[in-house]
Amino acid sequence: RAFSPPCGRAKVPQPITKELSMTSNTLRDADLSYVLHPYTNLVAHETKGPLIAVRGEGVRVFDETGRDYIEGMAGLWCASLGFNEPRLVEAATRQMKELPFFHMFSHKSHAPGIELSQALIERAPVPMARVFFANSGSEANDTALKMIWYYNNAVGRPEKKKVIARQRAYHGVTVASASLTCLPANHRDFDLPIARILHTGSPQYYREGLPGESEDEFARRRARELEELILAEGPETVAAFFAEPVMGAGGVILPPGRYFEYIQEVLRKYDILFVADEVICGFGRTGQYWGSQTYDLKPDILTCAKALSSAYLPISAVLVNEKVYQALRTNSGKIGTFGHGYTYSAHPVSAAVALETLRLYDERDILSNVARSGARLQARLRALADHPLVGDARGIGLIGALEMVKDKASHASFEPTLAVGPRIVERAQEHGVILRAMAADAIAFSPPLIISEAEVDDMMDRFERALNDVAADIL
Ligand code: PLP
Repeated sequence: RAFSPPCGRAKVPQPITKELSMTSNTLRDADLSYVLHPYTNLVAHETKGPLIAVRGEGVRVFDETGRDYIEGMAGLWCASLGFNEPRLVEAATRQMKELPFFHMFSHKSHAPGIELSQALIERAPVPMARVFFANSGSEANDTALKMIWYYNNAVGRPEKKKVIARQRAYHGVTVASASLTCLPANHRDFDLPIARILHTGSPQYYREGLPGESEDEFARRRARELEELILAEGPETVAAFFAEPVMGAGGVILPPGRYFEYIQEVLRKYDILFVADEVICGFGRTGQYWGSQTYDLKPDILTCAKALSSAYLPISAVLVNEKVYQALRTNSGKIGTFGHGYTYSAHPVSAAVALETLRLYDERDILSNVARSGARLQARLRALADHPLVGDARGIGLIGALEMVKDKASHASFEPTLAVGPRIVERAQEHGVILRAMAADAIAFSPPLIISEAEVDDMMDRFERALNDVAADIL
């Protein structure tokens, strides 16, 4: 129906009743009237309206009419234990009753934050010295960046401050982390990126490999280009390199050949810190506990979030190695404080839920499930490589993507006006599976880590119906 935005706020606030009481129609109207949605075309939303989820069960969520959807993205690559894990609810409730808030500023502390720090250090992919907590992946990456600047001031290299990320990277949306991110919509009209943040080529062989170039030759070329950028800027000015082990929002891009081996050689040569952004890959997504283990990364700083708490409460972490920690330690002693921290850094309820999440990964041997169901997902994705719309089928563990192309030989994309990716995702939702369209009409898959093989099949069957619908429409 036609939508007319209200002019300004209702004068008399409605009483907030004890229970959520709006009917689905009033909820929809109130959504259109009051909510500014993140990552949404705000004009299109006025006609499309929201999908309002009311409850979750395992890998499924249900809308207000009772329809079920398999959450093929685990929400935003995050609800690793699915949508109704009672142990996490109990952990939160216990902590809420015991101590709903305390903090870690100026020598204060609390048990959930301490125990979670120890659990993370013990599970880190490389020796790490300390953990700092924040509330989101963006904040974790902002924190890492601030630590890098502080570190280089501390060790007497104030000119070594530039940071390199990669094209198609996604590191968040705060001012600094959105600058590290290199996707057009995150920069355009936001006046980003900020100074001192540079981007080198993406690891996507499928689109950026040259004719006749092998994956490994392409990987070597990307490392050579990184070195050229460092030399052009002056190695004494380059502080750090940020990378996701597998790029997520940029299109689920796996590192080609021995890519990270070559990249890390360059970083070591010029004394450049390596930040592994494990916000998506951390806690089993790629089949090992960390993407850093899957790809043999040796980060100085590691950021994680999302599956850290199975997304039940916001929490993220920054792990730093001894070298970085010692510089922060000494400098804070000199200045009088390490002048950084969020009100909710290591929020005790979030920390308790994260600790219970890690306990559940151990108890339920989540990596074995990723091995089993991940193999099923990868087989189903690869089986679609011959579908007329699909140019590339890729993935590892429980993360994957299908990239749609107009021409399989040249990899030419469909015209953007056809919106092939978004159309498939819309149809998929009608067939009961929630997925996400990314750049170049790639469709991402990142289901909860608890998904069974039968549920992978159910998800892929629903998806294939959508794919065939759109193929019938446009081919
Ligand atoms: N880093 C990566 C790799 C991500 O995928 C994301 C979010 O999707 C972020 C950072 C930002 O996390 P948040 O949305 O919690 O700020």
